[in-house]
Amino acid sequence: MRGVEVAVATATGLLSYGVPIGLTAQLLPGMRVRVPVRGRLHVGVIWREAAVADLDCPASKLRPLDTVLDDTPLLPEPLLRALAFAAKYYQVPIGQAMRLALPGPLRRTGVKGDQVPTKTRWMVGRIDGLEWPTDLKKAERRVLERVLAQGEVSAGDLRRASDPLTGGFKRIAVPQRLLASLAERGLVRLWEEHVRRDPLGMRKPVPPEPAPAPTEEQIEVLAALYQALKARKYGGFVLRGVTGSGKTEVYLSLIERALAQGRGAVVLVPEIALTPQLVHRFRARFGDQVAALHSGMSDGERLDQHGRVRSGEARIVIGPRSALFAPVFDLGVIILDECHDPSFKQQSGLRYHARDLALVRARESGAVCVLGSATPSCEEMVLVGSGRLQLLEMIRRVANRPMPESFVIDLKEAERLPDPDDDQRPSLLSVPLRDAIADTLARKEQVILLHNRRGFATTVVCAGCGDAVECPECAISLTWHKRQARLRCHYCDHTVDRDQPCRQCSGRNFLRVGTGTERIEHTLAEQLPGARIARFDRDTATGQRMLDTLQRFRDRELDVLVGTQMLAKGHDFPAVTLVGVLLAETGLRVPDFRASERTFQLLTQVAGRAGRGERPGQVLVQSWAPEHPAIMSALRHDHPSFVAEELERRRVGGYPPYAHLALLETRHTDQQRALAGARTLAEGLKSHGADIRGPVAAGVSKLRGVFRFHVLIRSGHRPTLHGQLKWARSVAQGALPPGVQLFVDVDPGDFS
Ligand code: ADP
Ligand code: ZN
Repeated sequence: MRGVEVAVATATGLLSYGVPIGLTAQLLPGMRVRVPVRGRLHVGVIWREAAVADLDCPASKLRPLDTVLDDTPLLPEPLLRALAFAAKYYQVPIGQAMRLALPGPLRRTGVKGDQVPTKTRWMVGRIDGLEWPTDLKKAERRVLERVLAQGEVSAGDLRRASDPLTGGFKRIAVPQRLLASLAERGLVRLWEEHVRRDPLGMRKPVPPEPAPAPTEEQIEVLAALYQALKARKYGGFVLRGVTGSGKTEVYLSLIERALAQGRGAVVLVPEIALTPQLVHRFRARFGDQVAALHSGMSDGERLDQHGRVRSGEARIVIGPRSALFAPVFDLGVIILDECHDPSFKQQSGLRYHARDLALVRARESGAVCVLGSATPSCEEMVLVGSGRLQLLEMIRRVANRPMPESFVIDLKEAERLPDPDDDQRPSLLSVPLRDAIADTLARKEQVILLHNRRGFATTVVCAGCGDAVECPECAISLTWHKRQARLRCHYCDHTVDRDQPCRQCSGRNFLRVGTGTERIEHTLAEQLPGARIARFDRDTATGQRMLDTLQRFRDRELDVLVGTQMLAKGHDFPAVTLVGVLLAETGLRVPDFRASERTFQLLTQVAGRAGRGERPGQVLVQSWAPEHPAIMSALRHDHPSFVAEELERRRVGGYPPYAHLALLETRHTDQQRALAGARTLAEGLKSHGADIRGPVAAGVSKLRGVFRFHVLIRSGHRPTLHGQLKWARSVAQGALPPGVQLFVDVDPGDFS
């Protein structure tokens, strides 16, 4: 008799089932089956077929599987093995790891692989000039505020709030009946519309473009990659190429070779919505063989793309980190573009790092994996140092374009311009930077200004008692958004009307201190009245509006973009010849051992936006601490010496990549309980000989009314660390105070 082992999301391990006698179909790993678990039917993925005698479960207890859902495997075997690795490494049940590779609809018991759910969505619209009833519930008020701010918003978007903790999104409950009730009372408009969203312009055809003749450096790099590809064996590479050296061309050529071998490719990018141009380049080369995935897709669209990839109609998948799990059979190439980017680490649910799993999937597939960046991370460079990855380099820009010249403006000495909204104080804009911007615009060239804080004033303080206005739900001060005339929490999106008195002293006089992008925009507009300036940050750049802004900048209808780190990522605007950084050390002040590295990477990347076209570029960096090594190395585009210094610091401090870390987080709405849970874990781990830090309150100690505490475990020995985590998990089953939740993050990338 035959049996199968099946991965089911709700079970901790693989479950065994018998194959019914009448079922003659071949059962292959990666096919979905419907199986009974505790009296209900669930979707699972076949892990392996085996004789019943070889299964973990005695034959007498073996229950038959219910139905086979696929005729052919939905997921390739090397991908299954990579998922099994992820389950072990991140210490989650294998069924949960399997979910990474199954689009939502394919996890439901009723859905066949070829059925696409209908695509409609509910929209909610603002009605102007209304007086809100006084008896609104909190949830209703929150919805109304967001609709008011956005004008028109889909119900789906209302259910997602950006989550700065994860860099992703967080689900919030907005029941349909709440929306219906608001609509009934005439407070919003509610309607259903057909979805045909296409943020990447995938429905528009792209005229084909031939490959340019490769540069000498590209030839050399490609020779090494072709050789690895030809061998059809695993090869892992770091491609360190300065900004504008033609890395993307390298990816394109390598993938072309893989296609010629009859194999496919996966290309991971940090934020696909920000780089529609990259998708465009791939389609110009490969036409309809490209499938693109992005976070705004509906279930149906995702399923469409999944089907195209699985059938082999699309051989190339481009997308964010989750695209790593696309069902490309016979995978030849995996690319991580801007591999240093923090977004490759997932910060919720299964907290995987796409780089590490990409290397595993490539190894299991016998594929070539290329980690490309101008600023590979310390982790990546250490893998090079130990011989596990091979380093390929491109040190020159295409067509001998010069690297931009960089200068620092010491804010201690430079004259600063007045702030238009607070004449008591100088603004953050210096005279030399203003002059350079004016000169650039006079030459009809373009400017990018980086300032990594959004809003107008980053803190609002009561003039009477000095109390900073905090979010009622989070331990974080609110940011003043001038155009919206509201205070906003950047962690939970809660907004507060400006007319509320101080909660300490009932004062009504507030100082708006600190500088965000909106204040920079104002200052600049005052200084350069004719300039066409736009802001590019999460407040102004979402969905279609963001693409429009990028397009207008590309079409030279805008002169200056003022924005956050979203502006640093991969954009290629040939007419940008000046990049200005308002405050280089913004990111250095956070309590994170990677702060210095992130600052170096951000400055190098944004500097790389200058001078990519015919005319040379210039970078001006304002700072109070211009002698900081992260700033100095970035100004010199000197990655090797930054990494050497940084690695030394990490070695001395006992940080990754020289030690392994895991972060335990306890959460509860009651502060004492959350803390007690963290203490229990910390003390237990200590008595097990673990090297721990904490418990300490998380960087954001309270988020949406939930208190959070951290315990950090450090070990030089990976198996020891895993043993300690296993122990912590088992304690969590029984010994934590009731209701305390435990979250485990292996190789944490964020400590807020
Ligand atoms: P990177 O990804 O390293 O920043 P890109 O691949 O985007 O660099 O290349 C920078 C610019 O140079 C792009 O406009 C690209 O089209 C162009 N380019 C790249 N390789 C070549 C080449 N071999 N010949 C001519 N132009 C090239
Ligand atoms: Zn908040």
